[in-house]
Amino acid sequence: MEIFHEIKPLKAFLREKNKAGFVIGFAPTMGALHEGHLSLIQASKNAGCFTVCSIFVNPTQFNNPDDLKKYPRTLEADIAMLKAAGCDLLFAPGAAEIYPAKSVTTFEFGSLSNTMEGQFRPGHFSGVALVVSKLFHIVEPQHAFFGQKDWQQFTIIRQLVHDLNFNLTLHVVPTLRESDGLAMSSRNKRLTEQQRSKAIAFYKALMHCQFQLAAGKSMTSIQNEIKDTIEQDAELRLEYLYLADRENLSYLNHVEQPNKAVLCIAGFVGDVRLIDNILL
Ligand code: AMP
Repeated sequence: MEIFHEIKPLKAFLREKNKAGFVIGFAPTMGALHEGHLSLIQASKNAGCFTVCSIFVNPTQFNNPDDLKKYPRTLEADIAMLKAAGCDLLFAPGAAEIYPAKSVTTFEFGSLSNTMEGQFRPGHFSGVALVVSKLFHIVEPQHAFFGQKDWQQFTIIRQLVHDLNFNLTLHVVPTLRESDGLAMSSRNKRLTEQQRSKAIAFYKALMHCQFQLAAGKSMTSIQNEIKDTIEQDAELRLEYLYLADRENLSYLNHVEQPNKAVLCIAGFVGDVRLIDNILL
């Protein structure tokens, strides 16, 4: 696997690959890799792409400095995992390579970014859009792979690609889960063993909510009940549980049409914030 830390030699290398007829597939990550990330790499390989992964803990998307500081960083283990997964190239820049000077460009996605994560993490999606735009310009992929786990992020990047005419095809990869259903996440590494066993409460809440919706209950009647159930444990806190239109993310009270809704949840186990969703 090729490893680059700097933009200039990376661009020169990838331009040669392009000229030689390789199709570039790209999976941006923040590292602390798990099988979920590797499923993006696999999807790119399955599409026949020369597969590029980036690892960059992007400071501009963290609204909480403590979250940024505590974000797990495991570069050596990540490199071993990427090699074993058959990734062709890793781009792992330092912060000064991506942000040599303070960036002032901001992004606003209207109703796509005002809700859910945007409501609780001001500026988060602006930072995501900034770094993804930079990475798309640096890597110039023909295909880019993102996880369903961050559904709102995926819809925003789809809008970004459309609005800024990025010449690439986006792919969304299903959420990989642990055997008990917990969505794989780099942040799971921060959970104690006891917290890890409690973290499943959010996936269970999604399942319970799906069942209640199918039985004809409305979101407004389910939300409070689920909050109370989760928060019976003093270490758990529900931040939101929303049913939304998959495409425009507007909130729904019932599943009106099949294959049109997404059920999204976010909450804390101790000071670790987790998100999850299921498509209905
Ligand atoms: P992150 O490193 O958390 O920024 O995630 C990098 C990419 O991996 C994003 O597109 C995520 O949606 C995706 N991803 C994270 N967790 C999972 C998972 N459990 N299954 C599939 N994709 C995931």
